[in-house]
Amino acid sequence: MTRVDTISRAWGTKLSRSGAANQTPPADADEVSWGDPERTGTAYDFRSDAITTPSLRQLAAISRATLNDDVFGEDRATAQLERHMAAVCGSDAAAFVISGTMANQLALGALLGHQRAGAVGPRGVLADASAHVVNFEAGGLAALSGATVLPVQPTNGLYLTVADVMEHAKLPLTDCPTRIVSLENTVHGNVIPIRELRALKEWASSRGVLVHIDGARAWHAVASKKGTSGGTLADIAACADAMTLSFAKGIGAPIGAVVVGSAAVIRRVKRLRQSIGGGVRKMGVLAAAAREALLENFGPENVGVRGVFGHAHDMAAAVSRMWTDRGGRLSRPTETNMVWLDLASAGVTADALNQMGIQSGILLAGPRIVLHYQICSKALASLEQVFERILVHRQLEADAGPNGFAVRSKACV
Ligand SMILES: *Cc1c(COP(=O)(O)O)cnc(C)c1O
Repeated sequence: MTRVDTISRAWGTKLSRSGAANQTPPADADEVSWGDPERTGTAYDFRSDAITTPSLRQLAAISRATLNDDVFGEDRATAQLERHMAAVCGSDAAAFVISGTMANQLALGALLGHQRAGAVGPRGVLADASAHVVNFEAGGLAALSGATVLPVQPTNGLYLTVADVMEHAKLPLTDCPTRIVSLENTVHGNVIPIRELRALKEWASSRGVLVHIDGARAWHAVASKKGTSGGTLADIAACADAMTLSFAKGIGAPIGAVVVGSAAVIRRVKRLRQSIGGGVRKMGVLAAAAREALLENFGPENVGVRGVFGHAHDMAAAVSRMWTDRGGRLSRPTETNMVWLDLASAGVTADALNQMGIQSGILLAGPRIVLHYQICSKALASLEQVFERILVHRQLEADAGPNGFAVRSKACV
């Protein structure tokens, strides 16, 4: 049996309605999976760029990790990674944490506490209505920071602009003043132009509002073909009072994220991190793998030099063409590693698409196709087959009329 067969068999019965895996992955527990995206199945998995399989070099880096206590602030590998990230982002300081979600919650909590100097008061966070901090962080902003979220739909359909923020922000004297504007970059694969970020930061500073950037995928903004319009990591971080980055979104680390900001903000982040049990003793184990992944896949500077992101973006452009050349429409432009299919206009549901993917040995999660450097050419060919089936065969079937093959096959799509 081929690897594709194994994966489709193993995953086929294990997908929840959203397409998310909910059980053990197909790799055998007693085999080494590090560095083997075929074995883990990530080579065939388009659901997220968080799906990557860490490399053997990362495993080797773990074996060389320093093993001091990071709760005591004594671990050299962790401190080295934090200094490195602060330097490439042009920030004073950085805190390594275990997930992007934790990084966002701590960054927002630290900014709210920082601004209020410990006082309890109404605090509003204005964010894109589709942001991770609004939808996928389990209400953490309310629970952990006592903040009210003001979700705003971007007028341009892509990202929040200074005009959107000016229109919706609630300034002091109203009941819940906007203390923070929270932005995502990239946002669902789209890059916020650096000139827009600068305008936003300038407006916010003039009003005493702080800016948080969820840069889980800031790497992608920097490596985007849009080139310098997205800025460097330091350009982006300069527009934020705290920025977060994830080592698991296209960088390929097993675990890890970072918050960068001023020394005072990072001190607060570390205190909050301890309060929720995010202080980790042998943090060097995680930091060593994250640092290796960063150097392997992004490079040592504040722009990606390893070509890994460019490769993922080229694959995304190719996938977009596979879809649009067959008459498919996109719901967002493809600028980095995500392709957004307009499924409604293609007459297919997300569930049907996911099922067709499984039948072709690939994993999909509805309209968002995510490319990462471990996707293999066989997976791309399978994806093309799925597109062909949706856009070309269905059209041929429809043309065949009510007595043709169309009526019979529709039932099984
Ligand atoms: C994935 C992601 C996060 C959270 O990262 P985790 O490490 O999965 O907790 C935050 N923001 C954005 C935009 C993300 O895509």
